[in-house]
Amino acid sequence: MKLSIVVPVFNEEDNLAPLHERLSRVASSCSDEHEIIFVDDGSQDGSLAIMQSLTEQDTNVRYVSLSRNFGHEMATTAGLDHTDGDAVVIIDADLQDPPEVIADLVKRWRDGVEVVYAQRRRREGESFFKKFTSFAFYRVIRALSEVNIPTDTGDFRLMDRRVVEALRKCRENPRFVRGLVSWIGFRQEAVQYDRAERHAGETKYNVAKLVRLSWEAICAFSLVPLRVAGWLGAIVMLLSFALTAHVAYHKLFLGLPIQGYALLACGLFFLGGIQLLVLGVLSQYVGHIFKHTQQRPLYIIDRAEGWSRVREQAAKLAAQTGPSRPAAHTSPLQPVGS
Ligand code: UDP
Ligand code: MG
Repeated sequence: MKLSIVVPVFNEEDNLAPLHERLSRVASSCSDEHEIIFVDDGSQDGSLAIMQSLTEQDTNVRYVSLSRNFGHEMATTAGLDHTDGDAVVIIDADLQDPPEVIADLVKRWRDGVEVVYAQRRRREGESFFKKFTSFAFYRVIRALSEVNIPTDTGDFRLMDRRVVEALRKCRENPRFVRGLVSWIGFRQEAVQYDRAERHAGETKYNVAKLVRLSWEAICAFSLVPLRVAGWLGAIVMLLSFALTAHVAYHKLFLGLPIQGYALLACGLFFLGGIQLLVLGVLSQYVGHIFKHTQQRPLYIIDRAEGWSRVREQAAKLAAQTGPSRPAAHTSPLQPVGS
């Protein structure tokens, strides 16, 4: 059994060496063969140099370096596109997700579960604000979307090859990998774990980035915001009917002069506000359509290393003993369908 481990990396120079050590230990204990694929998402610190030296030292390590920072979701996608293991794990580089949990994930996969996601029981070292917003986000997206996205679950998970192949067919942009995995289906089960503190460095997600990501995820998996816009329109229309009837009654039956400038002004502002709000929601979806129709690749690769060596070894082995397992199905420099 071959295990592929994908690690998106953005400025994580102090975490890579301890991560590599712990990943290698656990991967060798629970699989016959493994590969660790680091994806450098345009890091500006020494992360790339460390990946290069790890790739030289360890034949199980490879890396893909993107031409700039494309964001966590795209980095994860780039990594997945380059795997060829029977099971694929996604894990963050900061050691918040303990690599040892991978052994539990593999065990469940061997029992026939296609997606084993790691669900946080506790989270250490994160602010109350982060915990609260994260708690709220998972519940809101679950309530709004038709896809059953599990609560308190990040990208840390194991997927069967079939799920990864299905995921590689989904090239939508913007993308929310966790949501896509839930959408794909198959047997999906949780393994509980305690999330640790970041080993070194700072979180890459500030409030603005988190809000953007959450909104993109909601738009990608739910049409409820559009429906709410429609309901708002309907409610305002009903209110305006009632108001018109009220004014007409006073004028026609009671003969009262109508003095309603203040009311009129309030109504105008109210209507203007609602219209702008609805337009705002609509434009988010139009923006998604626009981005999607541009059909740009999801990421651009600057360089990738670690694969040719594997192919050389496989060729040598094949020459000696007949064909072994096929080489990586993706050329590192030509990601399939990216
Ligand atoms: N990351 C990335 N590109 C980015 C931001 C983050 O590849 O633009 C990586 C980061 O290096 C880490 C993972 O995504 O391995 C999760 O990021 P982080 O730990 O900052 O998120 P948090 O755990 O705070 O939600
Ligand atoms: Mg983290």
